Amino acid sequence: MIPAEFDYAAPESLEEAIRLLEEVGEDAKLLAGGHSLIPLMKVRLAAPTMLVDLRRVPGLRGVESGDSELRIGAMTPHAELADARAGLLAETAGTIADQQVRNRGTIGGSLAHGDPASDLPAVVLAAEGSVTLAGPGGQREVAAADLFQDYLTTAVGPDEVMTEVRVPKLSGYGYGHRKFNRRAEDWAMVGVCALVKDSGGTCEDVRIGLTHMGSVPLRATAAEDALRGQPLDRERIAGAAEHAADGTSPPGDLNAMPEYKQHLARVLTRRALEEAAGLGG
Ligand SMILES: Cc1cc2nc3c(=O)[nH]c(=O)nc-3n(C[C@H](O)[C@H](O)[C@H](O)COP(=O)(O)OP(=O)(O)OC[C@H]3O[C@@H](n4cnc5c(N)ncnc54)[C@H](O)[C@@H]3O)c2cc1C
Repeated sequence: MIPAEFDYAAPESLEEAIRLLEEVGEDAKLLAGGHSLIPLMKVRLAAPTMLVDLRRVPGLRGVESGDSELRIGAMTPHAELADARAGLLAETAGTIADQQVRNRGTIGGSLAHGDPASDLPAVVLAAEGSVTLAGPGGQREVAAADLFQDYLTTAVGPDEVMTEVRVPKLSGYGYGHRKFNRRAEDWAMVGVCALVKDSGGTCEDVRIGLTHMGSVPLRATAAEDALRGQPLDRERIAGAAEHAADGTSPPGDLNAMPEYKQHLARVLTRRALEEAAGLGG
């Protein structure tokens, strides 16, 4: 439970942070809230020789509401996001772990870490958001659909800092979120978020994000396709939700067999969709 020895730096600018990452190379790691990285270091599944702490870098924290999108600083802690007027993102952030974890853990850390059990990645994926990455060559924008590559593997380069998360506001969409865990304030065995656009009783658009149903967060595209263009009633929603686990192969673990997780995905999708469609859930 004692990490390997490492150096520590707390740069005061983004440029300095990037320069340190470039100098040290792959053995350097950024430190945000430390609630995923430090536990890994303690069991020596990660052993960076240098931690570059982002806490003094200005401009990386806060939620800004523009006309069409939310811009969330990567160092914004879950607790701050949960208190913001940020719809599905705020509701989901409020279900992460306990108050202590929400006070320290950040949206940037959650998205850059790429743990499929994390709650916010599926929301940013379903909302078709994106992240801004700053590196030695400048900035680039990466769509959430291209960010999550494999278990604990994202498109964030070793010399890049995620600075911002951008999420379309999706006005006119209702939303619902369901998370199933065995203990309160724990990781999701399975989580589902849904966004539904109701146009006079018909489903004009629907997006469904799945947490912990594979090595990366997923969209339940078969369920989305089954509901899009259909009347928004309980029967159609239940029929579409039956497709929520199509094409998934969730890993079995101490909590559940893959088949049980697929069952959960179908049930939670129905409930999240009903909530998003204003039918109670
Ligand atoms: C007891 C416990 C329970 C938890 N339960 C949940 C839960 O229910 N749901 C959930 O979603 N999460 C849960 N978490 C995880 C928590 O939300 C983490 O805080 C989050 O996943 C990582 O954020 P962090 O700021 O702590 O990142 P860190 O641990 O500091 O960093 C994680 C990784 O991301 C990299 N990184 C961090 N910031 C950036 C950046 N700006 N740019 C590029 N790379 C960056 C780091 O180098 C590191 O590799 C739990 C954690 C604990 C300890």
